[in-house]
Amino acid sequence: DIRLRFAPSPTGYLHVGGARTALFNWLLARRQQGTFILRIEDTDVARSTQESVDAILQGMTWLGLDWDEGPFYQSDRFPVYKEFVEKLVAEGKAYRCYCTPEELEAKREQAMKDGRKPKYDGTCRNRSDVPDGKPYVIRFKAPHEGVTAFDDLIKGRISFNNDELDDLIIQRSDGTPTYNFVVVIDDATMGISTVIRGDDHVNNTPRQILLYEALGYPVPRFAHVPMILGADKTRLSKRHGATSVMAYRDMGFLPEAVVNYLVRLGWSHGDQEIFSKEELIEKFSIEAVGKSAGVFNPDKLLWLNHHYIKESDPERLAELLVPFLAERGVDTAAGPSLPLVVKTLQERSRTLVEMADGALFYYQGEVSYDEQAAAKHLVPAAGPLLEALASRLDGLADFSQAGIEAAFKEFIAEQGVKLGQVGPAVRVALCGGTASPGIYEVIEALGKEETLRRVRRAVA
Ligand code: GLU
Repeated sequence: DIRLRFAPSPTGYLHVGGARTALFNWLLARRQQGTFILRIEDTDVARSTQESVDAILQGMTWLGLDWDEGPFYQSDRFPVYKEFVEKLVAEGKAYRCYCTPEELEAKREQAMKDGRKPKYDGTCRNRSDVPDGKPYVIRFKAPHEGVTAFDDLIKGRISFNNDELDDLIIQRSDGTPTYNFVVVIDDATMGISTVIRGDDHVNNTPRQILLYEALGYPVPRFAHVPMILGADKTRLSKRHGATSVMAYRDMGFLPEAVVNYLVRLGWSHGDQEIFSKEELIEKFSIEAVGKSAGVFNPDKLLWLNHHYIKESDPERLAELLVPFLAERGVDTAAGPSLPLVVKTLQERSRTLVEMADGALFYYQGEVSYDEQAAAKHLVPAAGPLLEALASRLDGLADFSQAGIEAAFKEFIAEQGVKLGQVGPAVRVALCGGTASPGIYEVIEALGKEETLRRVRRAVA
């Protein structure tokens, strides 16, 4: 039974890189009917905040990444860590180190001067005297010979010489455990079988493996996911645009577009671009994640979002659109049915923000005309035509798109004019400008009464 976890540190919002790591874990858990665990790594009390925990949970929920166990909080588990530290000390696998920070700093400087790699020199490793009342840290007694290696599921075999690894501090002088230690205790006691995480943790892995071995726990499999870069090939940061998952919601992206985008940022399946969640669960494999860093491409995310907006059920989009319209001061209760409005805008909106902007004219009591368009199309000559058209629409029984279109065609033939002589004027009358959704759709969405009101106002 595969057990996976996402283990964010709550020191900020859910970053797109973290979200992708969470997604890979989630997909693998769902694919293999395993268990997905959420663990909040909040041992850094000074930097961890409840707001950040909430933001992370909110981001996961928005993306639909549900967890089976947790959230667990490391801050609840200090007694557990303490017990394991004591166990290692009792077994002679960890020891008290009384070296002061000043002593260590002096040795470090000396090593640098001598051109050696600075490393704890083991002064306290085998000391027998026990200085009374002196503060101490606890260090792990790491092997200094041999090699620690693992077969990374993405990067292949990675090995480290043990003589490069320090005697890791596992408990600070204030009694709190350190990061690499608590991760191992948690992953071991939570039975994590595969660790998928960012490749900024590769260097921690050999230290963690040595701890598993000392504790007598099986070593999990590891998959280190390459980082995400901006277009300029530097690590993705705010300079490249929003990096918070929830910022994408606020910019009008759909969660399925973000999920589809994130998964393709590193994983591929032939040249397929569009994947439903079900399809991803069926096809995802960690071995197919690429070794090289993914480059964040906002245009592609927009393209995917446009795709999902076009595909989505108008009722659902309408619901999602309400807050965007509210932000723009629109009361959707006073105006045409929102799902109908949405239908007219799906083809032309890449985001819900674009859709909300595009929907504004429907809810304006008095459409504000684009000056140039009005000057060009709402000319005196158009008056009688629009009047006649209004009467025709007034008498129209079938006010569906098809009915409206048929009535338009008849009208034009009867009047002996071209669509180009009527259409733009109608658009300006109804929408304020000439860049608008299809005219028949707009008329249907506005309904007869409002259409007539707008057309007659334009020629009044
Ligand atoms: N808390 C770590 C981070 O946010 C993750 C550690 C891990 O996945 O092992 O980078």
